[in-house]
Amino acid sequence: TPDIRPLVAGNWKMNGTRASLDQIKAMAEGVKGDLSSKVETLICPPATLLYVATALCDDSPLMIGAQDCHQKQSGAHTGDVSAEMIADCFGTHVIVGHSERRTDHGESDALVRAKAEAAHAADLVAIVCIGETEAERKGGKTLDVLKRQLAESLPDGATAENTVIAYEPVWAIGTGLTPTVADVEEAHAFMRRELVARVGAEGGKMRILYGGSVKPSNARELMGVANVDGALIGGASLKADDFLAIYRAY
Ligand code: PEP
Repeated sequence: TPDIRPLVAGNWKMNGTRASLDQIKAMAEGVKGDLSSKVETLICPPATLLYVATALCDDSPLMIGAQDCHQKQSGAHTGDVSAEMIADCFGTHVIVGHSERRTDHGESDALVRAKAEAAHAADLVAIVCIGETEAERKGGKTLDVLKRQLAESLPDGATAENTVIAYEPVWAIGTGLTPTVADVEEAHAFMRRELVARVGAEGGKMRILYGGSVKPSNARELMGVANVDGALIGGASLKADDFLAIYRAY
């Protein structure tokens, strides 16, 4: 979208140990330069690496974020991480509502919305993930699902500054399958209209990322689609070479 600075974001999922910090170091170096004023970059490593990863990116435009947060600020929630803790580690973003969280942990739209609100309260950018399953797509329900997920997962205080939408068709995640350009274009145009209807002018400026099997070989085509304002990348974000190649597709 013209006037929107794209975001190329990586989600490491449950991958990465201290040995993987070399990849973050290489990414931090690789995104220094002219292009970084036009394209933002973000890596979301596992929570165990968050603090040390942000330290590595001290003098780089590469930002570091988390993959999930709890909806409460603190308290008796064993194993969970709060948005405040992420901010305390100098994380700037948090992914909420990834389809793997929705599936593995039964996260509802209402919970995802509460998590996005917690992110905002901690001054983090919430990356709110939505997307249809294969059955929903085959049943012709894609736009209905996106409409519902946007309506119910997006908090009222969402602005272009504090919120990014990530459209990730569930059937395209980690499968090597991607929707056609026409299907991506239709979904993103629909989300754009819904966002403007919901939050007004802010919705016209909010970034809508595409996610699902983005790799160096298809990045240019997917990132060139109208209303696609960047990418959320799983597998291809683990290696600096792949991540940087996608970034340079801009
Ligand atoms: C993701 O899970 O956010 C994702 C897009 O994964 P992949 O790129 O591996 O399909």
